[in-house]
Amino acid sequence: MNTPLDKVIVIMGASSGIGEATARLLAARGAKLMLAARRLERLEAIRKAYPEADIQIKQADVTEFDQVEAVVQEAKAVYGRIDVLFNNAGIMPTAPLAAGHREDWKNMLDINVMGVLNGIAATLPIMEQQQAGYIIATDSVAGHIVYPESAVYCGTKFAVRAIMEGLRQEQRENNVKSTIISPGAVQTELYTTIRDQATGESLRQAQQEWGLTSEDVAQAVLYAIDTPDRVSISNLIIRPTQQQ
Ligand code: NDP
Repeated sequence: MNTPLDKVIVIMGASSGIGEATARLLAARGAKLMLAARRLERLEAIRKAYPEADIQIKQADVTEFDQVEAVVQEAKAVYGRIDVLFNNAGIMPTAPLAAGHREDWKNMLDINVMGVLNGIAATLPIMEQQQAGYIIATDSVAGHIVYPESAVYCGTKFAVRAIMEGLRQEQRENNVKSTIISPGAVQTELYTTIRDQATGESLRQAQQEWGLTSEDVAQAVLYAIDTPDRVSISNLIIRPTQQQ
């Protein structure tokens, strides 16, 4: 039997996919959780599934700083500290640039990039005061390689990689760690955010044929969280074996 994970962990984007699988894994390991997303009923279902666990839930849109701050402040008020922020919320409405889906571009930048920055801005003052903490963001293989028809999504994930590396450099003396988790294709609802039919078809097919499960990625998040304070992991890249 594993030793309980005595940590306070806030997950932004915990209502499905990787965030949900991580919440479930951490709940089973005894962590104290604050789960946030827009779909409150999905968070409630996770909480109900673990009646023994210490789980708070709160509705929040990561593009709204006030809502993110309210999540973080409530976690601090309830548990007295925050050990880990998992910045996981994201969308992927990919399409060729020529399609000119400017609204999708803005939403991707707002959620995938500003969402991560809002989480950092809300949490960092607490972690600096604690002189301890850990911020993890879900990046992507698309934060390392540019794929056609995914230029804007890749741009958001390149940005997250840069921001998180800057965070590591700035915060190492405050004992605040940072990690990006970079999955390849994972079987989640993310693919339902693709509106462009042609792009969506090929990506969905690959993901369904040989994609990772959310639980595969959650194990990587747990691995990072469970490292001693002296260990700083910048990046975990987790591809399905068959992915290029
Ligand atoms: P899901 O669509 O299952 O999960 C996305 C999560 O983000 C949901 O909990 C959703 O909650 C939340 N979210 C989206 N927009 C917002 C918002 N405005 N405010 C708050 N929460 C929001 O997909 P995944 O689990 O796949 O995605 C998780 C992360 O993994 C994303 O950052 C994605 O880019 C990344 N990723 C995914 C890969 C994949 O192949 N699936 C590969 C590489 C990276 P709600 O809608 O309830 O608000």
